[in-house]
Amino acid sequence: MTHNVVSVSGGKDSTALLLLAIVQEVPNLQAVFADTGHEHQQTYDYVNYLAQATGVPIRWVKADFSEQIARKRLYVDTKWREKGVPDSIVEQALAVLHPTGIPFLDLCLWKGRFPSTKTRFCTTELKVNPLIEQVMLPLMDEGGMVLSWQGVRADESLARRYLPKCDEVGGGLFNYRPILRWKVADVFDAHHLMGIKPNPLYLQGAGRVGCMPCVNCNKDELRQIAQRWPEEVDRVREWERLVSLASKRGCSTFFSAVDDPTYKEGDIITHENYGIDRMVEWSMTSRGGRQFDLTRIFADASSCSSIYGLCE
Ligand code: SF4
Repeated sequence: MTHNVVSVSGGKDSTALLLLAIVQEVPNLQAVFADTGHEHQQTYDYVNYLAQATGVPIRWVKADFSEQIARKRLYVDTKWREKGVPDSIVEQALAVLHPTGIPFLDLCLWKGRFPSTKTRFCTTELKVNPLIEQVMLPLMDEGGMVLSWQGVRADESLARRYLPKCDEVGGGLFNYRPILRWKVADVFDAHHLMGIKPNPLYLQGAGRVGCMPCVNCNKDELRQIAQRWPEEVDRVREWERLVSLASKRGCSTFFSAVDDPTYKEGDIITHENYGIDRMVEWSMTSRGGRQFDLTRIFADASSCSSIYGLCE
């Protein structure tokens, strides 16, 4: 028996992927959406629309960090105290170290930091692991072959250009990338031919959908998000406050503060002075504004370089 598992992100490529699977009438089709808890509401609505419009149910999976947070509480309460971390820092960490049920936030509370372009643990923890643990492994246990359909295209990034169309992971699990050679126009054609609307965020100017914002977002994307959906910035600002409380240093910012070239050694970094608002302020500047080194802050700025196609 062959299981066909299509990873849906709410973006254009994974939608085209699902439509292709439907047209090809593949057997044992399952569509799966990994919810990070950091998507725009319109993406959540779109995933529901897609299931209703195609007639293919889309299963939502979520990472759960309750156990990791419980272990961290214990660690903070014992090891941090033994290491001489001030009681006030310990108490403020213990006060926020409770699972919220929002995967992205809980991951950051557990780690005491946000992911970054250089340490991008979010894709693995929030998307790859839940899909493998909750979907792929149970299917592999049933026996037969599991095809993991991934909506990656070669022209999206260097990392994706040389991927094979199909490769074996092991244990009967295969990565399958049937739209690898498709152009972006092919992707939207597939929507049109099947009578499926694209995610409305594209029509509002978004170049990509997915985490709002993504740690890999570029300057224009950040400006657009701040201008169009300021509530997303408000949410990240509040997350910076909470994750800072869970951090031993008492500070964590969504974008890495030390990559800011205006940072001076000795500056005290807080989420208030180096947090999301500072980056939003920068995103509003033109060439004459305060300049950051884009290549350091937003590596692979055009897209997330995940080869799994789980992040657009
Ligand atoms: S979209 Fe960006 S922030 Fe979200 S999981 Fe992927 S790489 Fe991380």
